[in-house]
Amino acid sequence: MTNCTVITGGAQGIGRATAERLVQGGGMVALLDLDAAALAETASALGSAAHAYTLDVSDHAACNALATRIEAEVGPITGLVTCAGVTRAAPARTMSPEDWAFVLDINLTGTFYACQAFGAAMLNRGRGSIVTLSSVSGVGAQSGRPNYVASKWAVTGLTKALAIEWGAQGVRVNTVAPGPIDTQLYRKLPESFRTEVVDARTPLARAARPEEVAEVIAFLLSDAARYMTGAVLPVDGGLTTGFVTQMSGRDIAPLKTQS
Ligand code: NAD
Repeated sequence: MTNCTVITGGAQGIGRATAERLVQGGGMVALLDLDAAALAETASALGSAAHAYTLDVSDHAACNALATRIEAEVGPITGLVTCAGVTRAAPARTMSPEDWAFVLDINLTGTFYACQAFGAAMLNRGRGSIVTLSSVSGVGAQSGRPNYVASKWAVTGLTKALAIEWGAQGVRVNTVAPGPIDTQLYRKLPESFRTEVVDARTPLARAARPEEVAEVIAFLLSDAARYMTGAVLPVDGGLTTGFVTQMSGRDIAPLKTQS
């Protein structure tokens, strides 16, 4: 049986682009997502190399059951990409416990459950590569999304903890920290925020296409990255490179030199 890469949140966005990239390279993928309709559409577009499974990543028992099922139905799990993620914006002062828990349960706990369930198959075999999805919000912070920022910093910490525990057992764990990527999740952010980030604060002055993150994920999954683990790789058009442009809450006039 051909090796299989499991992709949570694989129905759309970065997950779907990663699946397309891996299938183009001859791989088999198992796409896991809550959105059954989008999942079916993506799996049908990708053909027989893609297997689709409906899953809520915050369901611990379901993640474990699916790991056994995928190994039987698709093949040995040697890769995992944890793209399932959500955002719900509100100021810290008024954020409801529900909105806090919703984002943490999926972005952090769901990432841990997926790593634990599908990582176990890799540990049993002594080889595998996991790529988690952090964010520029897991490198710096933004106002209005304390739940999302906390979840992404935690994903970075979790990634490093797993890298240390599992490295000697043949399983590498890295994270990518995307900046603005033009997906459904990104389009849920306010237009004013998108314009400000893309036009004024990203050195490459545009949002990325999901395919541009998928390329980096494919690299980290591959043997070309065999000496990398515990790494945080920004794919952010340089957004986190400068600190002057990162001041929030006020407009910054371009610096002018005195003549
Ligand atoms: P997206 O909204 O396009 O796709 C996310 C997918 O996750 C969806 O198909 C959704 O149905 C699925 N999902 C949501 N909750 C789930 C659950 N409980 N169980 C299983 N699946 C679930 O998002 P995207 O932009 O492709 O983001 C992918 C990852 O990258 C997320 O973790 C996100 O936080 C991160 N990220 C995105 C951006 C960006 O600008 N788009 C930037 C930085 C980080």
